[in-house]
Amino acid sequence: MSEHPVVRDEASYLVPTYARPEVVFERGQGVYLYDNDGRRYLDFMAGIAVNALGHADAQWVKVVSEQAARLTHVSNLYHTAPHVELAQRLVQSSFADRVFFCNSGSEANETALKFARKYARRVSERDDKTKIVAFTGSFHGRTMGALSATYKSKYRDPFGPLIPHVAFAPYNDSEAAERLIDGNTCAVIVEPIQGEGGVNPATSDFLNTLRTSCDEHDALLIFDEVQCGLGRSGHLWAHLAYNVEPDIMTLAKPLAGGLPIGATLVREDVALVMEPGDHGSTFAAGPLVCRAAQVVFDRVNDSAFLDDVRQKGEHLRLCLRQLDSSLIDEVRGQGLLIGLQFSMPVKRLMSEARQRGLLIINAGEDVIRICPPLTITREEIEEGVTIFGETLSAVEASI
Ligand code: PLP
Repeated sequence: MSEHPVVRDEASYLVPTYARPEVVFERGQGVYLYDNDGRRYLDFMAGIAVNALGHADAQWVKVVSEQAARLTHVSNLYHTAPHVELAQRLVQSSFADRVFFCNSGSEANETALKFARKYARRVSERDDKTKIVAFTGSFHGRTMGALSATYKSKYRDPFGPLIPHVAFAPYNDSEAAERLIDGNTCAVIVEPIQGEGGVNPATSDFLNTLRTSCDEHDALLIFDEVQCGLGRSGHLWAHLAYNVEPDIMTLAKPLAGGLPIGATLVREDVALVMEPGDHGSTFAAGPLVCRAAQVVFDRVNDSAFLDDVRQKGEHLRLCLRQLDSSLIDEVRGQGLLIGLQFSMPVKRLMSEARQRGLLIINAGEDVIRICPPLTITREEIEEGVTIFGETLSAVEASI
């Protein structure tokens, strides 16, 4: 098979930060993607938990097209209606009082860490309350601050020195976290369900301990819901299943249904330490992306939609368990964020599945992550599990 010019030229012109397979996608519809040969793929990964409404959702396309024809960008130096309307929706549906918008998950976490540093300075009137506590397996992004709170040495080591005063405790180890959070801590940052780290849901005891320790030491509790938030877990916010509220929550991936956006949601007292000029972003919260996000938010923020995500998640886990493959050690996760633990590297499984028309991703070396569009149907779930079962059989037969 001759190499597609896109694949060839990419190798010449792009910084090689990704090892992409030789597939060139041309369009998407619902939960299916189509490559340049017209081959159809069932999308069990939704652009890494981004395309919550699937591809080319009719309402999303209509609203985005109409807004693009009216107004896309004016900068944050002026008022526009869509970003206020989006902020209002996020505030009215969460613990938060105010929102700062940006363009990605990394930036949303960067913002949260900056806010926490300034809040600690202002409230404690100390310059040394700067410690940030994060956890093993965490992934908070690639910018310097977010990377400093990201655990994997593969991501960190080439870029040091990172920002100082970040310490890691084992995820879900309440006692270790309690020991690490102290009077010098300004923030604790945690994913209620770890995504990249292997699809690991937090225990209720762990999140409750973090809340108590943060209160005891006047530290801010940041929930990174960039991947697990906005319906992915079957709840609007993943932490709603735990009955623990953060002081700051970060969002990104699914919020605008495929356009770049990030959001940092905060309590009033956190917001009010920030002043004009303290933080900003040229592109953030333009009218186009905020209209797109309103469509996604209004569809997901509906109890019937969320019930359906929970039920479909249970159905998907059940179907995966029924595969009864000796290669799968565990099926875990919440809602439509599911991890399959293997005791072998899973890279080959991804390429074998793709060759059979199914797109799945990993979360670390030995975990397959399944995070389809939230709009997927039961029939589409079963179709994907059938292909995955065939993939497992083929791999099993060859080892
Ligand atoms: N936080 C979590 C939990 C994530 O999963 C990710 C991305 O995978 C990020 C932050 C970084 O988001 P982005 O890639 O949009 O910067």
